[in-house]
Amino acid sequence: MITFYPGPSKVYPQVADYAVDAIREGIVSLNHRSAGFMDVVKEAVQLLHDKLSIPADYHIAFVSSATECWEIVAQSLTRAASLHPYSGAFGKKWAEYAYRIKPPTELNQADVLCLVQNETSNGTQVTMETMAQFRREFTSIDGSALIAVDAVSSMAGIAFDWTLADVWFASVQKCFGLPAGLAVLVYSPAALKRAQEIGENAHYNSLLFIHENFAKFQTPYTPNGLGIYLLMRVLQQVPPIAEVDVTTRNRAKAWYQFFEQDMAGSPFHLLVNNTAERSDTVIAVEGSESAIKAVKASAQQAGITLGNGYGDWKNTTFRIANFPAITDVDIETLKRFLLSFQQ
Ligand SMILES: *Cc1c(COP(=O)(O)O)cnc(C)c1O
Repeated sequence: MITFYPGPSKVYPQVADYAVDAIREGIVSLNHRSAGFMDVVKEAVQLLHDKLSIPADYHIAFVSSATECWEIVAQSLTRAASLHPYSGAFGKKWAEYAYRIKPPTELNQADVLCLVQNETSNGTQVTMETMAQFRREFTSIDGSALIAVDAVSSMAGIAFDWTLADVWFASVQKCFGLPAGLAVLVYSPAALKRAQEIGENAHYNSLLFIHENFAKFQTPYTPNGLGIYLLMRVLQQVPPIAEVDVTTRNRAKAWYQFFEQDMAGSPFHLLVNNTAERSDTVIAVEGSESAIKAVKASAQQAGITLGNGYGDWKNTTFRIANFPAITDVDIETLKRFLLSFQQ
C-alpha cells in the first residue's frame, strides 16, 4: 500500500528500524530528566537548527500537537487579541480555538497575526514574498506585534525565511515523515520577550514554563520520548532543507503540469487556479462527487491511498501529499494509475 494522505502520511521506511532501536536500547525507558534522555533532546534540537537552517537565536521546544501550539499562542503570547486572515479549514479552526481563550476584540487591537503558511485543507500556500509583506504591514501598525505561523504541512518540506515570523510550528506527521504525537515549536527572542511581559504561568504548557524546562533540555511533563528519538534519527538521515526544497518544488511543478497537460481531458482539474497560491506540498484536485468517489475507490484497489477532501471540499476533491518521504517510484505509480483511470 502506498499512501498520499496529507497527514498522517507516509513515514520514512527507516522509522521501523529506528523504533526497534529505541526499544532495544532502552531509550523509551529512560527517565526524562536523565543525562541520556537530555542528550537525545539536545541532539534533536541541534539537528533542527542545522538541517532546517533555523536561526541560532530562535528557540525550539517540543509539544504534543499543532493544536496545542494554537492554544499556546493564545494563552501565552496574545495580549489582547489575535488576527486570523484564513482561507481554509485549518485557519478557521485555529481562529475558533484562539477566540475561546482570547475572544476577538477590535481589529486594530490585535497584537498577534496568525497565518497558516500551507492550508492543507485546500492546497493553498502563503509565499515568503506575501509573508514579507505581512511582516512590513503588520509591524508598521505596531512595532512589537508578533506573527505566528502554522507550518504543519510545509515545515521540513520547503525552506522558510524564519525571520519573517516569531513563532513557527508543525506536528511531525506531515513533512517530517514520522508518526503523530509530537510537534516542533520554534520561537524568536521577540516571542520570548512577549511571553515574559505577559507572564502567563497558569498552565502546564505555558510557554515560559516550557522555555525554562527546555533551557535544560527537559520538558514540563513526561514527553513523547519515542517521538523525539525518531525525530532525531530522521533528521540525521535527511538532506539539508535547501536540497529538500528543490526536490519538493520540482515535484510540485511536475504534479501541476501533469494535471494541466496529461490529465487535461480527464474528469479532474486543479482546485487552485491562481498559480501563485498553489501549495508545493499538498496538491488538491477537484471533480464531480461521483468521479472523486470512483477514483478514490479504484486507487484503493490498486494499492494507493489518496487523501480525502477536507472541510468544504470533502466530497469534491482528493488531495495528494507531496511530502519528502514519498519516493519518485511512488509518484510514478500514482501518475500511471491516474492516466489509466482516465481511459
Ligand atoms: C494537520 C494540521 C493541523 C493539525 O495538527 P495536529 O497535530 O492534529 O494538531 C493543523 N494545521 C494544519 C495546517 C494541518 O495540516
